[in-house]
Amino acid sequence: MRVIVAGGDGFCGWPTALHLSNQGHEVAILDNLSRRKIDDELNSNSVLPIASIEDRVDKWKEITNKEIHIYKGDLNHYDFLSMVMKQFQPEALVHFAEQRSAPYSMIDREHAVYTQSNNVIGTLNVLYAIKEFAPECHLIKLGTMGEYGTPNIDIEEGYIEVEHNGRKDIMPYPKQPGSFYHLSKVHDSHNIMFACKAWGIKATDLNQGVVYGLQTEETLKDPVLSNRLDYDGVYGTALNRFIIQAAINHDITVYGSGKQTRAFLNIKDTVRCVEIAMNNPADTGEFRVFNQFTEYFTVQELAEKVQKVANSKEINVDIKHLDNPRVEAEAHYYHAVNTKLKTLGLEPYLLTDEVIVEILESALAYPNRIKKENVLPTISWR
Ligand code: NAD
Repeated sequence: MRVIVAGGDGFCGWPTALHLSNQGHEVAILDNLSRRKIDDELNSNSVLPIASIEDRVDKWKEITNKEIHIYKGDLNHYDFLSMVMKQFQPEALVHFAEQRSAPYSMIDREHAVYTQSNNVIGTLNVLYAIKEFAPECHLIKLGTMGEYGTPNIDIEEGYIEVEHNGRKDIMPYPKQPGSFYHLSKVHDSHNIMFACKAWGIKATDLNQGVVYGLQTEETLKDPVLSNRLDYDGVYGTALNRFIIQAAINHDITVYGSGKQTRAFLNIKDTVRCVEIAMNNPADTGEFRVFNQFTEYFTVQELAEKVQKVANSKEINVDIKHLDNPRVEAEAHYYHAVNTKLKTLGLEPYLLTDEVIVEILESALAYPNRIKKENVLPTISWR
């Protein structure tokens, strides 16, 4: 299949582009490299050095003889996007290309506006570009489990049957997101659902949990193919951030009580979930929603798992509870359904000690790249 991976230079997009290329698909990466510029803005970095996008795809060609096309540019520039769609004629478009940090979106007005305009208008442009230039193209859009929030009932996969005044209907599941970033994903979901209905677009919204892990089968083939490893208080995701704190003998810092429960998955499962969605496209006009996660944990459980593995490597770190910089429920019910991807064949990699060891050892190999001043939260929701 001819597939565009938008955001294919990022943490999820790069391994996905390699995985799809490895499966024999013709892959083009579209990316404006904004994530690398945000590292400069935040004086931050990936723990593992990452090669330029050109060096990455050259190395992939050298090792596998498979070509990945690069389109450097912004989804918000419609002329550029139109050119790409006309030239490449994708059968699938995997859309990772958004500003994805909740804390970044909460820095101030400018960062909230940037996040929502980048994400919402980018996705709107993608919808128009599919309608105009590739109407059969299946849109596979990365949403997030954070769109749902933490309701006191089970979270269904996108839709819920509601009975009201004696009548029943299947309605979109209510969304209660917790940051301007998460709100941008909800706005995207509404726009996509409407475009499916109005124009007959085929779309799958992958409501992904928090991704942990680092490498995949493909990124391990050469150090130049390495994935990025974020650890700072802005882009580091919970488990990865705790492991890097342990690697530098820093306390593991849990926000508030740590009883917040979230859905998680390994980056190795992200790439397979996208592949499964691509091989089993939505129908014409269908807005399909999959909950893309494999397990859930409380933040405290993750901290304890990291502490235990660190201890086994003779690294003794404490778990500290910080005042929660976010506005979120700390003790709440959490049960979410995730059957659709499993029904289509996903066999999850679960979170074992070995997974934590692998990330810890990668971090221990680059102690001088970890900026200690970046591991604590600096952005408040209030
Ligand atoms: P990332 O920041 O590492 O990658 C995003 C990529 O998109 C970057 O390379 C960036 O340069 C590019 N990009 C951003 N805006 C763009 C634009 N307007 N035009 C072109 N390129 C643009 O993020 P990630 O962790 O790989 O996340 C990818 C997607 O998955 C995001 O949509 C995110 O919301 C979603 N997601 C991620 C996680 C997670 O834990 N990482 C969890 C749930 C959902």
